[in-house]
Amino acid sequence: MKKVTITDFSPKTINKVTKPLKDVLIQNEVAVKTAEAVCEKLNQKLLQTERGRFSNASSLVLFALREVMLEILSPPQELNLIETLRKAKESKSPYVIAFFGVNGVGKTLSIAKIGQYLQDNGITCVFAAGDTYRAGSIQQLEKHGENLGIRVIAQTYGSDAAAVSFDAINHAIAYKINVVLIDTAGRIETSSNLMAELQKICKVTEPDLKIFVGDALTGNSLISQVTLFNDKIGIDASILNKMDADVKGGAAVSVTHISQRPIIFIGTGQKYKDLEPFIPEEIADKIVPAK
Ligand code: GDP
Repeated sequence: MKKVTITDFSPKTINKVTKPLKDVLIQNEVAVKTAEAVCEKLNQKLLQTERGRFSNASSLVLFALREVMLEILSPPQELNLIETLRKAKESKSPYVIAFFGVNGVGKTLSIAKIGQYLQDNGITCVFAAGDTYRAGSIQQLEKHGENLGIRVIAQTYGSDAAAVSFDAINHAIAYKINVVLIDTAGRIETSSNLMAELQKICKVTEPDLKIFVGDALTGNSLISQVTLFNDKIGIDASILNKMDADVKGGAAVSVTHISQRPIIFIGTGQKYKDLEPFIPEEIADKIVPAK
């Protein structure tokens, strides 16, 4: 293969390289908008790359692409949950975390996993059964609470989710519990009623952290969900579930690009311990393997 020197990299040549890349990214489950942003950032990076650093065009492009992926996967607002909660323990009690996402993405199980994780780190918590709509959701959360020894504050189906969450906060204040984890409904991803309900929960409880929960296997639907929840509620961080399946990594790039907020954990199975920290390099490796 002909060796290309960096001086050969004119904007035209760069375009030739990055144009087909957009389709490759989309095949890797990257959202179209995100794929376009990646190509744009890559163009900029290639134009600015120091001459002579690489003698081979393809290794330069792959190196730059990996850097762009890592930039997108690591938005500036980093969040170390345990550190944040330990600090909050001294200044503010309780710390309120609300979880949002459509049915079936693993939201309830994520709350249980986080509950266990907090307990393991000496932080106490209470669950608020704020999905008062889906049949079985309250019992499901109560079952997790029973398994983990975590109190669940619930009312009946059809009751006001904001009121349930408010009760849970009052319970936490009364019993000096550090964190309130609020489950919410996720009935229809485009439902304006649902968005109004979630906005009311936010208004009443003023969560310190709003976590979007997504399912890595849902492709385009995940992209529309993260866009909707970010627009209507405002996402501070995400959890991406079902990463134990053979996913291509594009979902994580899209979620961080669209929300501009970090993914803090990935779900890797159905057990309480199947919650892992999100490592941007591992996702970048799936898309652009490091040499
Ligand atoms: P919710 O409707 O969003 O509250 O979702 P659930 O917590 O009820 O989870 C829906 C299904 O997904 C359940 O069968 C969970 O066990 C499963 N699930 C959740 N997270 C994961 C994960 O990370 N990996 C796998 N394999 N399954 C998961």
